[in-house]
Amino acid sequence: MYDRLGRTRTNLHRERAEVNVQRILILGAGFAGLWCAAGAARKLFESKPSNQPIEILVIDARSFHSIRVRNYELDLEDTRVPLADVLDPIGVKWLEGRVKQLDLTGHQVQVQTASGEQTIDYTRLVFALGSTLVRPKIPGLAEHALDVDAYEGALELRDHLASLPSQPASSRRYTAVVIGAGLTGSEITAELPERLAGIAGSRKSVRVILMDRTPEIAQAMGGAQPVIERAMREMGVELRPGVTLKKISARGVELDDGEIIEASTVIWCGGMRANALTAQIPVASDELGRLPVDNSMRVQGVDDVYAAGDSACSLIDGRRPSIMSCQYSRPMGRFAGHNVAADLLGLPLLPLRIDWYITCVDLGPWGAVYTQGRDRVLATQGEQAKRTKRLINHERIYPPRTRNRDDILRAAAPEVDAPPPQNVATG
Ligand SMILES: Cc1cc2nc3c(=O)[nH]c(=O)nc-3n(C[C@H](O)[C@H](O)[C@H](O)COP(=O)(O)OP(=O)(O)OC[C@H]3O[C@@H](n4cnc5c(N)ncnc54)[C@H](O)[C@@H]3O)c2cc1C
Repeated sequence: MYDRLGRTRTNLHRERAEVNVQRILILGAGFAGLWCAAGAARKLFESKPSNQPIEILVIDARSFHSIRVRNYELDLEDTRVPLADVLDPIGVKWLEGRVKQLDLTGHQVQVQTASGEQTIDYTRLVFALGSTLVRPKIPGLAEHALDVDAYEGALELRDHLASLPSQPASSRRYTAVVIGAGLTGSEITAELPERLAGIAGSRKSVRVILMDRTPEIAQAMGGAQPVIERAMREMGVELRPGVTLKKISARGVELDDGEIIEASTVIWCGGMRANALTAQIPVASDELGRLPVDNSMRVQGVDDVYAAGDSACSLIDGRRPSIMSCQYSRPMGRFAGHNVAADLLGLPLLPLRIDWYITCVDLGPWGAVYTQGRDRVLATQGEQAKRTKRLINHERIYPPRTRNRDDILRAAAPEVDAPPPQNVATG
């Protein structure tokens, strides 16, 4: 039985035991996990611990780093970055497998790989398994709702939309209902009128509805709210705030008051919650299931376990909890990586503090909207904000893809970036 590292399970343990290698085990290769691996590799490289062999091993269910924030886009091809392109050049080992169980007392993790179950031990653990879409027990949701939470779901939605012309002609064939008008719901909704019109061959038969139980669409989006509402109306999206969903079926959605909206496409965007495996770490998690970490990203009360990204909650600006986001996950990952390596080497840890927060919501062909701060004060909108969004989604959040060790280690410095620019030159 071989793993992706080309070794048998027994060899994996024997190899370590024979040379007394210590292992930093990073669970997850998303925005937090991938950058954690690069941050740890950078710290080890710069410290050159000659008498203290340390291995970095990343485990992810996929062999690629998913640019998850782009899952609402039509072209998903470029949203997968092979792990080999980033981790191989910096000497980080990786294993494709699904983490099943954590044993903190035994310092072990159970992983299901294509070739069977493996037990992997660690000296230090970093939990970076991210978050998943909240899926409440609404009748029909599991069977009939699509989503853009993960790459696989986004592919399913793309294929579903492409298959609509083969459905019998009806008013519901090109009708789509998006439930949940937060950031993700707004982004996928804004794509749909044009995308569906392209598939249907005309805009006439297309109907897109964005609904939420809150009194206003995009209610939590602060200064972006009126912009999102206007953009949706200008794109012909029907807005249904203040409604409660009763069930979803193959016909469409049924509301609490008995109204039925017939739709072939129903997309659920009901918010995110930390990976369920956080429950296996014996600390009190927050209301989103996140592990409390200090400013070095160490899980509070568990000395040899670190966490970063959507699975972790830190007082990011010294007083307010981090927000599940790519913009925080990447620096949390870099600092977790730096610190977990420094910890093993007995070196000082670096505190992470980020004093800024921005939101940039893609509004499809209409443009985008960019806000600053937790109150989401409107900064830019339309084409100007869209240029910032393109810069974020297509360049800023990607790891270097040069396969060059120095490029990758340089990008992994434990530093906080400046916020994305508001004025991006037309390219
Ligand atoms: C459509 C969409 C748009 C978004 N837009 C924005 C935005 O504009 N700005 C922003 O800041 N944030 C945005 N986000 C949120 C952002 O994507 C997340 O906050 C970010 O991905 C969190 O990074 P992470 O590394 O913690 O988790 P993830 O990126 O989700 O990575 C977790 C990794 O863990 C792996 N994994 C999970 N479970 C297991 C397991 N049991 N075994 C092995 N591997 C496992 C996954 O395969 C994945 O690679 C958006 C999210 C979505 C879905």
